[in-house]
Amino acid sequence: MKTLCLLGATGSIGQSTLKLVDQHPDRFRITALSAHTQVDALIDLCRRYRPMHACIADTNQFAALRDGLSAAGLSTTPLAGADSLEAMAADDSANTVVAAIVGAAGVASTLSAARAGKRILLANKESIVLAGQLLMETVAAHGAQLFPVDSEHNAIFQCLPSGGGRDGVRRLILTASGGPFLGKTRAELAAVTPEQACRHPKWSMGRKISVDSATLMNKGLEVIEAHHLFGMPAEAIEVVVHPQSIVHSMVDYRDGSVLAQMGEPDMRTAIAYGLSYPERIDTGVKALDFRTLAALAFQSPDGETFPCLGLAYRAIGRGGNAPAVLNAANEIAVMAFLEGRLPFLGIADIVGEVLETVHWEPAADLSVLMASDAEARRCAIQRIH
Ligand code: NAD
Ligand code: MG
Repeated sequence: MKTLCLLGATGSIGQSTLKLVDQHPDRFRITALSAHTQVDALIDLCRRYRPMHACIADTNQFAALRDGLSAAGLSTTPLAGADSLEAMAADDSANTVVAAIVGAAGVASTLSAARAGKRILLANKESIVLAGQLLMETVAAHGAQLFPVDSEHNAIFQCLPSGGGRDGVRRLILTASGGPFLGKTRAELAAVTPEQACRHPKWSMGRKISVDSATLMNKGLEVIEAHHLFGMPAEAIEVVVHPQSIVHSMVDYRDGSVLAQMGEPDMRTAIAYGLSYPERIDTGVKALDFRTLAALAFQSPDGETFPCLGLAYRAIGRGGNAPAVLNAANEIAVMAFLEGRLPFLGIADIVGEVLETVHWEPAADLSVLMASDAEARRCAIQRIH
């Protein structure tokens, strides 16, 4: 029996995870749940899954959570705040932690799960972008297991040699859907709205990652993620646009073999892989029917219209705190865009400017990275207002 601590239970990945739990009650049991501010939704989930702990990140909502749980007659322990989230991720009641919080807010709990030696299903890509080396070292030092839930990295994970050797690997090829604005010019993007940016043609996701997909920053973050997860240099990580989102990513070997992982664009496949590895379980994802598939197309990304991908490669080349700065500036810029305070094209402008402004430092430890994250946020906010 896998006991699960699901961080970010109310989000898109959280909900997909719960669908798998519903399908396999004999295999998976929820022991801890978290949400950011949606306290009523969290209480509803507690009614359904009866976890031992529930944590609301927003401390102002603690009383509402406590009272709601007690009114529902549940023995679930109410918790609140970032420290409780960290403690919950390390608690013995779960052997598996699904890290599905969005943004750098997920770093501390992911690291905490790693220190506690958990099986970690990592959806929260921002934590590995911000603190990649530290997270990988912590996982190794404490015998934790990291399963990438991002569909591209999950695909690569499935296509790499199981022994971990990289000698035969020539390149990792990350596929990108191209997002809702594929084929558009910069002029056409000047006035796009958050609703248009969040209307992804293939994937249904949270709003932040949807905007990241529209700017191609998502792919940039994923290049950094792949670099850390798989120990490959940025030069050996290539991005190719594949609008159908059927090939989730590929590994190109020296001998000319290319292994691809394919499937319907549905995150339950990647989550189930991490949940049940090395077994394969039913997910409810429909089988690929090659007879009805349209042609699969591949093309180069348009780096001029979508500069964020290039910015991510620049950050990875600089190393140190640069990826943390990139990520933090992007989080602020995306939020400003979603709130109507910044035009779409301003996202890349802000990230580029902040990357050039915040001083470079080696990624000595988490406190340096968090200080760079805070500095980059201040710098981005100043430029937006
Ligand atoms: P979402 O916005 O739908 O959900 C985010 C979850 O995090 C919610 O439960 C929310 O309550 C919680 N949260 C938000 N801010 C928080 C904070 N400050 N403190 C604590 N909790 C907070 O996002 P999502 O689409 O589920 O994505 C989650 C993560 O998974 C992101 O890092 C995203 O990049 C990654 N991811 C998502 C998908 C996808 O298909 N949705 C695919 C690949 C990777
Ligand atoms: Mg992805």
